[in-house]
Amino acid sequence: MTHVLDGNAVGDRIRDGLRGCIDTLEGAGVTPGLATVLMSEDPASETYVSMKQRACDDLGIESFHHELDTDAPAEELFDTVESLNDDDAVNGILVQMPVPDHVDDRAVLRSIDPVKDVDGFHPENVGRLVAGDARFKPCTPHGVQKLLEAADVDTEGKDAVVVGRSDIVGKPMANLLIQKAPGGNATTTVCHSRTSDLGAKTRQADIVIAATGYPELVDGSMIAEGATVIDVGVNRVDADTEKGYELVGDVEFESAKEKAAVITPVPGGVGPMTITMLLYNTVKAAGLQHDVSLSL
Ligand code: NDP
Repeated sequence: MTHVLDGNAVGDRIRDGLRGCIDTLEGAGVTPGLATVLMSEDPASETYVSMKQRACDDLGIESFHHELDTDAPAEELFDTVESLNDDDAVNGILVQMPVPDHVDDRAVLRSIDPVKDVDGFHPENVGRLVAGDARFKPCTPHGVQKLLEAADVDTEGKDAVVVGRSDIVGKPMANLLIQKAPGGNATTTVCHSRTSDLGAKTRQADIVIAATGYPELVDGSMIAEGATVIDVGVNRVDADTEKGYELVGDVEFESAKEKAAVITPVPGGVGPMTITMLLYNTVKAAGLQHDVSLSL
């Protein structure tokens, strides 16, 4: 029987644990706060930001929201980040990407105070992750690590294949898997659009993690019997539904499920974990900034 991992259930358990940490912080007079900054009219970005705010409210994290016109000068965004860096009520800052073309997105990431960088994308935090001394693990790969742990999938000594090498998912995922630490110690291959014979790589893997944005790229014929398959992808494809589309992952679920021992669905797999780990990083940031030790 294939174990279909329930990201909502795993996420809920982690959020319950965070409530205890928030009580500890409140006891020390600290209410954790997350600021979101949106400079986009993209409906998906607007939805992500409002989901993050709602998740904060549900848990007792204060949320602050700043919305900028898409044609505002870049300086306006940098000034906003600077004021949030200086605001003691704000423990975490998230600038929703992508920002408009006239704004240098790397400069935006560098402008965030690294101790408030709950996405974990500031070069200092990327460096710490690579060096095995992570302050904030990026939310999606951290969520995948937590899902594997919840399913009792031991990564140590396993062959893992990460399909995708983006800065937000593929690269940090691979970095976590190779760390000499729990949730790591895997022999890790990173594949991308120039990889030759992707199937040959994925078929030899105990763990396949797909993060490409290419609908149903990985099918059952590319999966070894008994493998663990984690699908990060979220893709809208035209469908005969009320909305005119449906969400599918980067894995062809039905055929991959025939082979896999453990698999994540889309939706309801990795997605809920990403927001959960953002809340986790915000609580962690509040603890670090106020010197309150938390059992995270
Ligand atoms: P990017 O577009 O930044 O990166 C995609 C990666 O996949 C690139 O490295 C690209 O290779 C590789 N790739 C594309 N096509 C192929 C192919 N045919 N074969 C092998 N590799 C390929 O995407 P992201 O990493 O930001 O996101 C990936 C997916 O995950 C998307 O569907 C996104 O919506 C989803 N996502 C989901 C999240 C969640 O919470 N569930 C969070 C973040 C992302 P190359 O580098 O050579 O171009």
